[in-house]
Amino acid sequence: MIAEVIINSNVRNLNRVFDYNINEEMLPQITIGSRVLVPFGNTKKLEEGFVIGLKETSPFEVKEIAQVEKEQYLDEHKIQLAKWIAKRYFCNIADAIKLFLPPGKITKKIENRIKEKCIQCVFLKKDAEEIEEAIETKQIKSEKQIRILRFLLENEGVTTSDLSVYADASKAVIKTLEKNGFLEIQEKNIDRNPITDREIEKTSNLQFTKEQEEAYQEVAKNIEEESYTSFLLMGVTGSGKTEIYLQLIQKVLEKGKSALVLVPEISLTPQMIYRFASRFGKEKIAILHSKLSVGERYDEWRRIQRKEASIVIGARSAIFAPISNLGIIIIDEEHDSSYQSEMSPRYDAKEIAEYLAKENHIPCVLGSATPSINSFYQTKTGEKTLLVLNKRANHAPLPEVEIVDLRKELANGNRSMFSSRLQEEIAKTLKQKKQTILFLNRRGYSTFIMCRDCGYVAKCKNCNISLTYHAKTNKLKCHYCGFETDCIITCPECGSKKVRYFGTGTQKVEAEVHKLFPEATTIRMDVDTVSQKNSHEKILEAFQKEKIDILIGTQMVVKGHHFPDVTLVGVMAADSSLHMEDYRANERTFDLLVQVAGRAGREGNIPGKVIVQTYNTDSYSIVYAKDQDYLSFYEMEQTIRQSLKYPPFCDIIVLVVSSEKKELAQEVIQKLEKEIRPSLEQLENTYVYSPMPAPIDRIKNKYRFRMIIKCNFGDTIIDTLGNCLEKNKNAKAQIAVYRNPNNMI
Ligand code: ADP
Ligand code: ZN
Ligand code: ZN
Repeated sequence: MIAEVIINSNVRNLNRVFDYNINEEMLPQITIGSRVLVPFGNTKKLEEGFVIGLKETSPFEVKEIAQVEKEQYLDEHKIQLAKWIAKRYFCNIADAIKLFLPPGKITKKIENRIKEKCIQCVFLKKDAEEIEEAIETKQIKSEKQIRILRFLLENEGVTTSDLSVYADASKAVIKTLEKNGFLEIQEKNIDRNPITDREIEKTSNLQFTKEQEEAYQEVAKNIEEESYTSFLLMGVTGSGKTEIYLQLIQKVLEKGKSALVLVPEISLTPQMIYRFASRFGKEKIAILHSKLSVGERYDEWRRIQRKEASIVIGARSAIFAPISNLGIIIIDEEHDSSYQSEMSPRYDAKEIAEYLAKENHIPCVLGSATPSINSFYQTKTGEKTLLVLNKRANHAPLPEVEIVDLRKELANGNRSMFSSRLQEEIAKTLKQKKQTILFLNRRGYSTFIMCRDCGYVAKCKNCNISLTYHAKTNKLKCHYCGFETDCIITCPECGSKKVRYFGTGTQKVEAEVHKLFPEATTIRMDVDTVSQKNSHEKILEAFQKEKIDILIGTQMVVKGHHFPDVTLVGVMAADSSLHMEDYRANERTFDLLVQVAGRAGREGNIPGKVIVQTYNTDSYSIVYAKDQDYLSFYEMEQTIRQSLKYPPFCDIIVLVVSSEKKELAQEVIQKLEKEIRPSLEQLENTYVYSPMPAPIDRIKNKYRFRMIIKCNFGDTIIDTLGNCLEKNKNAKAQIAVYRNPNNMI
């Protein structure tokens, strides 16, 4: 018997099947999906590979499989899906297969760890500042020690074996750090459950409203009949979508099956998990998301695999969890852009969900208050079934939204970022002892710094994009590569001292709040303040428990939290998302505004108020968001997209070629163009644009060229591009293919 083996490598050249002989002894153990070690090339070292096919004979002279792992993570279905992913998202089969493997590289070390009953976890004994100081003062000099401490800052409580796998820490280095008082090692039991240990009160099913009942019944019918349908459940925040999910899951569990719930990473809060745990008990639930330590993720993965958990809640990658007997897939906030991976494999979790739902003959439910234009379009073409909840289940009224024209403010001599209306409302809310959320679409203190005399803008030397000023560290930072440099006071081009900061960040808003309302307490939440594990949750908890007057934050404040005392939401500048170089700018703006408005007066008895400040008062995304009028917004947006040939009417493929050598990158992209243009141009509805330098023409010292193809993505395009990439797999430049990317990079 011959096994077709894919070598576990991301080298493009090795993305093909190699034949190996299976000896008599191994024959009973090897199936499609087996993980094997095989001799490869001229080295003595064995390479890891995956069996993706079996056949009787091979035309080649073949070597023999050396070893087979007992533990099997893959089966024929998963291999099939991995092949589909590799083809559809243009990646190596090995990379697609790895999506299904347990978190972390499988190495001998991890395999051994499984057998340990008790494990050793490493905790820091000093906080971040003390550690940074020790590094700065050269108290710690060794690169290795620094790396381990920094790794621990992000992943406290990892096991010693994880630490050696991921931070390359030897026992000796860990011992030294322990001896010098930087860390301690604790013994822990191996079944760690990331759901907090707080008391969980049991809740039971709520009596559905008529709308909820109708939506529920439609999906329940599919569960009963074991048939596939893709549903779009549209309902404003508070309309009772989650309650429907809970009861659908219950039905699935009663049939002895499991459920998968995907939510955006930042919505996966303890509050949210608690709602599921309080209905089903925490033992039944497994959580998968990137904030968990590697060890925790591994444990959760194992619990799913051993069928101990029948409800899996997770972010995007949980779609690959080893769930058996799947009964329903639910994707909440389906409009969220995080369901599409920006790193290779650039898969779309919603597409994978549809694939799995079809394969398992089960329903797939996508829920949102503001469905993506794509999903809503599919309800018109019949690919999806629309379910609508028009009313709020808890009868809380929708907040009143007021639009303020910032151009008029300026004309009236108000140069502050706060319009007079917003100032009035903040003052009123402070008086009522209620809370305010101020939302803005940015991060950092200012977006960029510029010389007012000569126009010089400080840019990253690796990426050619403007550096962002961070007030806390007084540094300029590149958000693409992390490059950091001291802040400039004089212009390096002309020597002028008139270097100014432009743009508005959370820190600047906070500073101005303190000026206008010295008595108000404030708290900030943005990417900089939440980088440590859990601090996202800590900030929100502090805001609520300590009754802080004003929360100032970026995108993150928008996601599903209940703040009964928030009666005012101020949107500082609604337009900032309108100026993105992205065909979805209006969609993003509409989503954000509707969601942010949903934060005001959700349950309180004082009606909520939302003030939206903008320079574009008549932009349709802002006008329709004011009335939460999704349908009118959709009609407008679809007309525009149809005429401009944007998704869902056309797909946008972006080919990016990058290399440290500019000429090489250019040469390769021109070659690709030459090869694909003739065959693509024969297709209907397909436009091939000439290669150009990418908008960000350099990232991490690599020059970037891009080429755009507008087309109807499907088998023909997949084959043409796939063949072209195959032909050029030896090219010295990197080639990446993006489909409808979230940023037009
Ligand atoms: P969504 O997920 O659409 O935001 P939720 O399911 O969270 O909505 O419901 C919003 C609030 O209304 C929650 O506090 C929930 O407990 C309550 N709720 C949901 N359905 C009902 C119902 N049928 N009767 C009473 N309250 C309900
Ligand atoms: Zn200058
Ligand atoms: Zn950079």
